[in-house]
Amino acid sequence: MEVLKKLELTEKGYGLPLQLWIQAYKNNLTVKELPVSMIYKDKDRTFGNYLDDPKKRLDYYQKIIDSEVKKMLNILAVGPHPDDVELGMGGSVLKFTETGHKVTIVDLTDGEPTPHGDPETRKKESVKSSRILGIEERITLDFPNRYLQDEIEARQELAEVIRKIQPDILFAPYWIDVHPDHVAASKICDAARFYGKLSKTEMQGRPFYVKKIYYYIASHLKLNLKPSFIMDISKVMEMKVETIKSYESQFGPSPEGHQLFEWVLNSNRYWGNLIGTEFAEPFISKEEVGIKDIEALL
Ligand SMILES: [Zn+2]
Repeated sequence: MEVLKKLELTEKGYGLPLQLWIQAYKNNLTVKELPVSMIYKDKDRTFGNYLDDPKKRLDYYQKIIDSEVKKMLNILAVGPHPDDVELGMGGSVLKFTETGHKVTIVDLTDGEPTPHGDPETRKKESVKSSRILGIEERITLDFPNRYLQDEIEARQELAEVIRKIQPDILFAPYWIDVHPDHVAASKICDAARFYGKLSKTEMQGRPFYVKKIYYYIASHLKLNLKPSFIMDISKVMEMKVETIKSYESQFGPSPEGHQLFEWVLNSNRYWGNLIGTEFAEPFISKEEVGIKDIEALL
């Protein structure tokens, strides 16, 4: 959808009606633009009386583009450490950005210390992974790894990010985990979502409440989960693997055989199996999940 935003409208119009252009774009087809005169050899062909006026046609196209662009979602995914979002929902993030949704990732800590990492290396790794993910921005908050607590400061700092970004959907780590940072991160997300809407506060930004919060699974526990929904990520699984490989300090240069890496492959295959696809990622919601369209059931 980025292409759509950049689309330069000219009074010459398009070789293809704009709606078809948009449909083609959504289906990953490339459309070559041509001036109308090269398409319509027949001089009597028109766009319809009203749209024959190039100025009016231009306004009309602009309106359609604006409404299409507005449909794009603003998504915020929060991880306790760099690589958690990738492990739990990297495939879904890839799908979101590929279809033009805006994704921001917040890592609550820089993930250090770890046995083979250091802050600079971890930063480079997360930048590399972010590029593959195609996300808008990645923010690292400076809370201490292994000491992450659900406390006022952390809640407020994340709430300020929420107030600034104003996301439609917030993704948080699942609340049941053996790693205390993950448990704390999940609670911080819940609290920050609530704090986001507070007025009469010293927090920066306008009050804002995120409509939906869903939890991805990057848990260190072997859980028998019942997801609220499962996202097919078959087409982007290879790229998800690439994002995980970016974290060489954590998984080594060839992570095959690493316990966590194998868990990702096996569990994503398992979830895919449940919905009849090769790979998938599970999500849990505390509230019921509704759908707006029958197409979501296919
Ligand atoms: Zn983690």
